[in-house]
Amino acid sequence: MINVPAYDRVDGRPDFDTVYTRCPRCGVVATGGATYQPAPDGDIDPSRDLELTCQLAGHRYTAPVAAILPRDATSTCRRPGCGHTYPVPAGADEVVCPACRLHQDGPARTTNPGRREHHRQIYGAYMDGVRAQLRTLRDRDPGRGARLFSDPDR
Ligand SMILES: [Zn+2]
Ligand SMILES: [Zn+2]
Repeated sequence: MINVPAYDRVDGRPDFDTVYTRCPRCGVVATGGATYQPAPDGDIDPSRDLELTCQLAGHRYTAPVAAILPRDATSTCRRPGCGHTYPVPAGADEVVCPACRLHQDGPARTTNPGRREHHRQIYGAYMDGVRAQLRTLRDRDPGRGARLFSDPDR
C-alpha cells in the first residue's frame, strides 16, 4: 500500500486525469471527464457532488467527493520512452499516465482478461447505439448526417 492524496493537482487545480470513480451503470473504474463547482481555493468542493461521464459508454452520473477511489496501487506507463510509474486504485480498469496522458489498461484489466472482454462488449454496444443514432440523423438530414459521419469526434 502507498499513501498518496486521492488526486493530483496541477497549478493548484485538481487534475481530473487522476480522479478515479466507479461508474454505477457498468462498473468500470476509470477517470471520468468530471465537471465540478470549485471551492474558493480552486480545489474540489467536498460539499458538492462531482458530475462524471463514464469513459467506456458515455454514462452520466454524479458521485460525492467521498466516492473518489484511493490510489492504493501503482501502474507503469507502457508508452515507449515514458515508463512513468504513478499511483492508481488497485481496482482501476483504465488508467491515465499523468506524465504523457496515455489511456491504458489498469491493474484490474491486467490481472483479469475477462474484464477487458466484458468492457469491449459494453463499448461495442455503446458504439452500435451511437452509429444507429448517426444513421437516424443521416436519414433525416443527409447533408448533416454525412458531416457527422466524417467527424470521428462526434
Ligand atoms: Zn459506464
Ligand atoms: Zn506515460
